[in-house]
Amino acid sequence: MRETRRNIAVLGSTGSIGRQTLDIIAEYPDLFQAWLLVARSSADLLIAQARLMRPHMVIIADEQYYEYVRDALEGTEIVVATGSAAIAQAVTMPEIDTVVTAMVGYSGLESTIAAIGAGKRIALANKETLVVAGELIESLLRNSDSVLYPVDSEHGAFYQCLVGERHEDVDKLLLTASGGPFRTMPKEELSRVTAADALKHPNWSMGAKITIDSATMMNKGFEMIEARWLFGVEPGDIEILVHPQSIVHSMVAFKDGSVKAQLGLPDMHLPIRYALGLPDRRLASDCRKMSIEDFATLTFERPDFDKFPLLNTAYAAARAGGTAPCVMNAANEIAVAAFLQDKIRFTDIYTIIDKTMEQAPHIGRPHYEDLVASNKAARDYASRIVEELIK
Ligand code: MG
Repeated sequence: MRETRRNIAVLGSTGSIGRQTLDIIAEYPDLFQAWLLVARSSADLLIAQARLMRPHMVIIADEQYYEYVRDALEGTEIVVATGSAAIAQAVTMPEIDTVVTAMVGYSGLESTIAAIGAGKRIALANKETLVVAGELIESLLRNSDSVLYPVDSEHGAFYQCLVGERHEDVDKLLLTASGGPFRTMPKEELSRVTAADALKHPNWSMGAKITIDSATMMNKGFEMIEARWLFGVEPGDIEILVHPQSIVHSMVAFKDGSVKAQLGLPDMHLPIRYALGLPDRRLASDCRKMSIEDFATLTFERPDFDKFPLLNTAYAAARAGGTAPCVMNAANEIAVAAFLQDKIRFTDIYTIIDKTMEQAPHIGRPHYEDLVASNKAARDYASRIVEELIK
């Protein structure tokens, strides 16, 4: 039986996950068609992608590049638009089947909510959406035909381990972490590391923001919160294990004492392929497969909460709930951006997040507008701390 092709919207098509998603769409032309590509400001790459993939529409979020993109694609049939309102509107187009949310940070929230409202299948790569608004997203999903499929490798692993299992039989989610580039560095040296040092991730090739989040282990804190909402467990039921080889993508421990793990090479094409293929594991590939050398040494250790205090911060924010994770995320985005520009020290990232969270008012059951306001206030406050630090 020949299936109809699925039309895919790729939000953040010029980022690391977006580019790898387009690889996979191109790998299975009978199954997928890129329908909508959205980029923030990488105009030249977006234009090149549009010429290659021939989507129905492209959106450049940053309005200053609109005319440049429009002129470059003149003479093609491709519709060109700009602005965040256009994105939230475009994802609801009836032709679109699946929305891949691969934009960076808080900016993914509005369009993800719009896609849920339109009942789309969502391949969720923007974990900050669930960090900032997990409770809200969960309640929106309850009243929608929309389904969220995780693209994050750890959450793809949980998903695969849970296929065929009952929720009540789960004891714990064992979330694996590579430990990042500073796993073996003494704590005292962390204040001197540079953005260039932090960008050398040992296993995964990723965008700059998530690579810094991985170096501070904030990324693992975000993933704990992401897992909490995706799989309906309490933060205390998610245990982080450092696994430097990044071969075991995560595990689920069951109440009968059994543990299921999902393994694979550290290549984001795998979880993206799985998420796009769902509800089945249908996308066979001639990618490199695991060999005996890849299985030879798999080690696990406890994370160092003292050296990576943002793990504690993330658990505290998860337990507090409400606007706390939103504030944490906002402060982290400001701090990481400043660190990437070499304005602050690596360890200042923790200080900025802690200070911002300490002063932020707490709202227990936030509406969307509360999240928008908390995000803005936290970003402003964190930016002021950055200014103080660089004086
Ligand atoms: Mg991950």
